[in-house]
Amino acid sequence: MDVTTELYPRERVGRVREATAKAGLGAVLLTPGPDLRYVTGYDAHQLERLTCLVVPASGEPFMVVPRLELPAAEASPAGRLGIEFVPWDETDDPYALTARRLPQGLDRVGLADRMWAVMALRFRAAMPGAEQVAAGGVLRELRMRKSAAEVEALREAGAAIDRVHRRVPEFLRAGRTEREVGRDIADAIIAEGHATVDFVIVGSGPNGANPHAELSDRVIGPGEPVVVDIGGTMPSGYCSDSTRNYCVGEPPADYRAYHAVLEEAQRVSCEAVRPGVTPEAVDAAARDVIAAAGLGEHFFHRTGHGIGLESHEEPYIVAGNTEPLEAGMAFSVEPGIYPGPHGARIEDIVVCTRDGFEPMNVVDHGLFVVD
Ligand code: ZN
Ligand code: ZN
Ligand code: ZN
Repeated sequence: MDVTTELYPRERVGRVREATAKAGLGAVLLTPGPDLRYVTGYDAHQLERLTCLVVPASGEPFMVVPRLELPAAEASPAGRLGIEFVPWDETDDPYALTARRLPQGLDRVGLADRMWAVMALRFRAAMPGAEQVAAGGVLRELRMRKSAAEVEALREAGAAIDRVHRRVPEFLRAGRTEREVGRDIADAIIAEGHATVDFVIVGSGPNGANPHAELSDRVIGPGEPVVVDIGGTMPSGYCSDSTRNYCVGEPPADYRAYHAVLEEAQRVSCEAVRPGVTPEAVDAAARDVIAAAGLGEHFFHRTGHGIGLESHEEPYIVAGNTEPLEAGMAFSVEPGIYPGPHGARIEDIVVCTRDGFEPMNVVDHGLFVVD
């Protein structure tokens, strides 16, 4: 079987239909974005012209596509799902056309979480009786539980970003700016097999104490710790995301000590992962180690986020999330310690397995000193 068939199996649209009915929705309407790609494999462009997969709770699914986009839609993995394509011409109203083809008098419809507001409003006008809700609640049940093929795609993404981390020491030098280093890393993200660069954080010195630092023209100085958090999207559609800490020359005295605490916290948190454990317990596992070292106040974000076709999706590894983990769930484990005037974060993607976890990232977790 070819990879796309395994990643985007034919039966998925049927499962979405079942979930739609179970959620009490008359239909879900999926415009281009991760939900549409998940269901059909079609990586459609976001355009002002409406492309929309319509999955009614009862009846056959169909995809409304601008006639100009029909060849692309047919050539995509969606073309072999047996879904009817309904092309529309420039002078047609695709919203009215969609409403006409659906059963009349639907109470509620689900819209893709990422549907443009202008499209949601046009659908509201075309179906004034139908309450609109976010379809994400329906799709999440499926998307959170990765298939074997999806886990393999995440493994490939993890291996690709690991290769980039192994090359980071080539790029890091005192006297270079974060932006210069970041540009080299971005090139490496593509060279190592990603289709797109999603983000590159090179947080040097005080910028390392800001978990979401933007690349800046700050010159990296000798002895400065650097947080490198990078990710991209593979041709499969699946994402990578991994963080390691580097130092250009010998680090400050306290840095090694709290980096060691962080390594321990990240390891203990990963080891807490198994089916039945709650995300909040995985978060607490990391937090407890850091708090016991007296550094609790310097870890002020959640421990992780799910990952798949989006680099941030469910499940979130955060206090308050008590929905037990299941085999196939994939997420980051990325505690951080940011006491200033520097900081550190260690991040791996892990997949919950039947009896524990499998890391997608295997690059050494230790502080890497570039000399
Ligand atoms: Zn983040
Ligand atoms: Zn990250
Ligand atoms: Zn992350």
